[in-house]
Amino acid sequence: MDRRRLVPRTDAVLADPRLVEAGGRLGRPVVKAAVAAAQDRARQGEIDPADVADAAVAALPAHAASLRPVVNATGVLIHTNLGRAPLSAAAVAAMTAVAGPADVEFDLATGARARRGRGAVEALAGAVPAAADVHVVNNNAAALVLVATALAAGREILISRGELVEIGDGFRIPDLLASTGARLREVGTTNRTSARDYADAVGPRTGFVLKVHPSNFRIEGFTGAAEVPELTGLGVPVVVDIGSGLLVREPLLPAEPDATTMIESGADLVTASGDKLLGGPQAGLLLGRGDLVERCRRHPLARALRVDKLTLAALEATLRGPVPPVREALHAGPAVLARRAAVLAGRLAGAGVDALNVPSTAAVGGGGAPGVRLPSAAVSLPERLAVPLRTGEPPVVGRIEHARLLLDLRTVPPERDDDVERAVLAAAEVRG
Ligand SMILES: *Cc1c(COP(=O)(O)O)cnc(C)c1O
Repeated sequence: MDRRRLVPRTDAVLADPRLVEAGGRLGRPVVKAAVAAAQDRARQGEIDPADVADAAVAALPAHAASLRPVVNATGVLIHTNLGRAPLSAAAVAAMTAVAGPADVEFDLATGARARRGRGAVEALAGAVPAAADVHVVNNNAAALVLVATALAAGREILISRGELVEIGDGFRIPDLLASTGARLREVGTTNRTSARDYADAVGPRTGFVLKVHPSNFRIEGFTGAAEVPELTGLGVPVVVDIGSGLLVREPLLPAEPDATTMIESGADLVTASGDKLLGGPQAGLLLGRGDLVERCRRHPLARALRVDKLTLAALEATLRGPVPPVREALHAGPAVLARRAAVLAGRLAGAGVDALNVPSTAAVGGGGAPGVRLPSAAVSLPERLAVPLRTGEPPVVGRIEHARLLLDLRTVPPERDDDVERAVLAAAEVRG
């Protein structure tokens, strides 16, 4: 008999109460697609026609969006492919709270219009008292575009040849700056640039001097760069792109520049990312001299680069709230990590998994501090578990080293250890 005739009709399957409920939560198209896929599987003989509704229910996504939360066990603190900084619980709560109507540009006391995002701006200004004014845009690239457009369109930006940086995925800061109509005037050489090089190049067409922190590489050997204090007497603004978003000095990362130190040493403007070492949402921060920040804020382009209420809420909660996960991960003690790895590996080994606890080395990642090695601890597993762990629920992403899969615990919040254990047991197909 033709089994295709036994496949239940779409409307009959859709009447299943579980799928009706899912339609309200996920939207009808998502549910219909799951039903169609299950009917197909029944026609192919992969599943029994009687199981079509069950198969559709099992295949439903958890959310209406296809992006999935994952466990970052790579040991890379700021992993761009995994969404950079994970938000703190306080930031998540703040975002959720304002998902509906919120007073983002409204004064509840007077009923009048209010300054957009004032809470986040005040929190940022409060965190960097050295900055006379601050502004927030969509990301650091947007901050650079805004500064270049507002201060140097049709003019020149002086930049060292050693700081013509590609940030990642083909994104080059010089191309970004040139796209604004500003002309880049390169000074010095790849390995050495002096204050004299800038002084010789500065002129009536100079919009500003730009210093870019080489946040993802280091050059060693016969090198030299002019530091901010040597550039403040040139008669043009000094703008520093610090990249990582440290607002004050971080003792664990002594080579990583921070906004406060840069402004105190004479930078007129600092630009930074919100979702690197600051540990917040994707955002671009502009901090520094009042007149320059104001010129950026008043420029028509600023409207195209502004952030939404979710970003403003998350940024303010990151700045005012508890230590965000990136900082927790950075400061986690190696002994604590080693103990967690031993407990986890012990439990897995007890369940029959080939699991060992091993020392590991974590890194800050594309977000900054190249070359910094953070002592860590990992659970070492057979390499063949990498795919089932990535495709399991929740997906767990580790890294391969010497033909073993390492789950580095520095980037795993301690409260997720049990989830990781269950995921490994499921991937290894042993009973937990
Ligand atoms: C990461 C980085 C950028 C780009 O920042 P986004 O927030 O990703 O736009 C620019 N400059 C430096 C030095 C960086 O490290």
